[in-house]
Amino acid sequence: MEPLIKVTNVRKIYRMGDERVVALDNISLEIYRGEVVCFLGTSGSGKSTFLNMVAGLEKPTRGEIYIGNIPIHKLNEEQVTLFRQKNIGFIFQAYHLMPMLTALENVSMPLIFRNVERKKRNQLAKDALAAVGLKGYENRKPTQMSGGQQQRVGIARALVGTPKIIFADEPTGNLDTHTTKDVMQLIIREVRKHNQTLIMVTHDRSIANYADKVVTIQDGNILKVEEGDK
Ligand code: ADP
Ligand code: MG
Repeated sequence: MEPLIKVTNVRKIYRMGDERVVALDNISLEIYRGEVVCFLGTSGSGKSTFLNMVAGLEKPTRGEIYIGNIPIHKLNEEQVTLFRQKNIGFIFQAYHLMPMLTALENVSMPLIFRNVERKKRNQLAKDALAAVGLKGYENRKPTQMSGGQQQRVGIARALVGTPKIIFADEPTGNLDTHTTKDVMQLIIREVRKHNQTLIMVTHDRSIANYADKVVTIQDGNILKVEEGDK
């Protein structure tokens, strides 16, 4: 089977004045369709840089990133934005919901970029909210919900319209232990249901329990790749 994501010798250096920060040293890795992969590493190890690179939000200093046969590292900003809107869902640590919008409007947002018409958008968003246990919360604003509920909205927004790939950067970083468990079980259940590929990064060892593959990253290099506990 061909890998869905193929990362080869990726290096990322940030320059700040005279200073050079090697955020990623030399990363090579293959990820397959339907895999749940967890990147584990301490703060500053390069986890977010890696995700941003694969999502095309930043360009590598060196190396190649393919998603299917698309060379992400070669796309211009417009091409990469379109690719992302079509194929990738994001879950963030701090939820990143639009404060002025309701839960339903937040979840519908990615569908606007995919040119789904309004009626269909609302139906899909409603279904996505129901799937994360938020039936009846459609008209709530983010400030009217708990952290766990806001993250469920964030998950619904990432999953709506079933993008091929889901990226999650410290998805449970702002949640307590109990809510972390609920939210992780929910994410895994939903991505498995639709055979989506999930790449999450975290410093929390307990998250690795949910993964097929656990990649330990240290100082911008892969230290080891293990089978997850699942
Ligand atoms: P993690 O997500 O694992 O905490 P990051 O990928 O955010 O780590 O950062 C990796 C390294 O790159 C850190 O040393 C960080 O300070 C540095 N870094 C990240 N983004 C930038 C940037 N935009 N400019 C300069 N240095 C950066
Ligand atoms: Mg980070």
